[in-house]
Amino acid sequence: MAKVLCVLYDDPTSGYPTSYPRNDIPTISKYPDGQTLPTPNNIDFTPGHLLGSVTGGLGLRKFLEDLGHEFVVTSDKDGPDSEFERHLHDAEIVISQPFWPAYLTAERIAKAPKLKMALTAGIGSDHVDLQAAMERNITVTEITYCNSNSVAEHVVMQMLSLVRNYIPSYQQVVAGGWNIADCVSRSYDIEGMHVGTVAAGRIGLRVLKLLKPFDVHLHYFDRHRLSESVEKEFNLTWHPTVEDMIKVCDVVTINCPLHPETEHLFNDAMIAKMKKGAYIVNTARGKICDRDAIARALESGQLSGYAGDVWFPQPAPQDHPWRTMPWHGMTPHISGTSLSAQTRYAAGVREVLECWFEGRPIRNEYLIIKDGNLAGVGAHSYSKGNATGGSEEAEKFKK
Ligand code: NDP
Repeated sequence: MAKVLCVLYDDPTSGYPTSYPRNDIPTISKYPDGQTLPTPNNIDFTPGHLLGSVTGGLGLRKFLEDLGHEFVVTSDKDGPDSEFERHLHDAEIVISQPFWPAYLTAERIAKAPKLKMALTAGIGSDHVDLQAAMERNITVTEITYCNSNSVAEHVVMQMLSLVRNYIPSYQQVVAGGWNIADCVSRSYDIEGMHVGTVAAGRIGLRVLKLLKPFDVHLHYFDRHRLSESVEKEFNLTWHPTVEDMIKVCDVVTINCPLHPETEHLFNDAMIAKMKKGAYIVNTARGKICDRDAIARALESGQLSGYAGDVWFPQPAPQDHPWRTMPWHGMTPHISGTSLSAQTRYAAGVREVLECWFEGRPIRNEYLIIKDGNLAGVGAHSYSKGNATGGSEEAEKFKK
């Protein structure tokens, strides 16, 4: 029987919810490209309930324990004395969410001789040293599409909030103020602006589609070009390089995976090539941006605003400069873990585990690494290598 080690974020500070603001969530039958939603044989949770925290346990406890497996759930993930490291030595499967990632570095993989699968409850497996996983023949899977549209909604929300100066205006009201000029001296309309996405995959394309009714000029950079019909439908301008795109954009959104090719892509040199006063919204991964370069650009005015929900490492240490830099609209990593998204990825995790234990093939779209190589979606979107360097800093949050 297997030990399944699952790292989830803590329950709410007020305790695990006993009620929710809404009684149901909409039923979605297909993703925009026709991919079906997860199809597990069964689920043991109520859609719309909190599943991503420790007590929620992704709704897996009954399923795993009925099969005789050991199911360990913890939020204590960082540092050599963490509960996560204490359980690694005999874990066969590690489940982790990018929001509260259990960094599986090469050192940790070496401490887990029985580990056979790293399963991401969400999208983005950069918290796993993919190179080390390939060398150890560990299968890596994620739940492709489960929260892509959720993230795209967050991107549009944050773009508008930066451009329109929403957060400082909201803070005025809460603080009892009414100085209109304070609020509007940084407030613009997005209409007519040039907005570009780095990558037009599931999230990037959705962002472009959502933005079309705002009458903005839409741009994208991606390694693979979209079809002519999609480019035409949304009036998209494709750029052959990131540099070519950012120099004409007022707003840039980053929607590519983190892998060695994209790590620190937005550094001082890249930001200097952007239009002065541009905005960046990055919900992809914190490490795609150089932490200090972003803070410097906001201080100097090269950037007018920066928002997103992804940091490096996670949780962000108290002294992370993005907590205090000017004109930011950062949230914790939440865009892909709305209650709606959790329902989908919990079902996807259940589907992958059912396949794993029953010896059935896992869907190609959920595979990142298989048989020692990039596979499925992983072969399309990732490159070989490791992007976990520096993740041990996450321990600083506890101190
Ligand atoms: P997709 O796989 O659908 O899209 C990724 C896109 O990135 C693909 O079009 C891929 O291009 C492109 N890409 C890969 N490498 C590069 C590169 N070097 N330069 C430019 N483009 C590149 O994934 P999603 O859109 O669903 O998710 C994207 C990322 O967003 C995830 O990897 C994850 O890091 C992040 N994410 C964040 C969440 C959150 O809660 N904040 C939740 C979900 C995802 P091609 O395939 O054409 O080569």
